[in-house]
Amino acid sequence: MKSKSLKIATLAHAVYKKCECCNRVKDIYFKMSVLDAAKANYLVGDFDLCKSCGQNFGDILNIKVSTENVLNDFNFSKT
Ligand SMILES: [Zn+2]
Repeated sequence: MKSKSLKIATLAHAVYKKCECCNRVKDIYFKMSVLDAAKANYLVGDFDLCKSCGQNFGDILNIKVSTENVLNDFNFSKT
């Protein structure tokens, strides 16, 4: 399943704060954008995700996520 309404971006720099999935304070590597379900034109909100949650969401949504080059280059992975 691929969803156009959920996108996961890798942050350029990891941020130490609370993951909005597992509610633990960890290094946040990903931001998942939630777009409207009908046309995926509008940003509804977003979630900050730690490494393991981001990768888990990537697996669930069949989106390739990567933490490589997080501290070097902005890296937005999509399939
Ligand atoms: Zn998490």
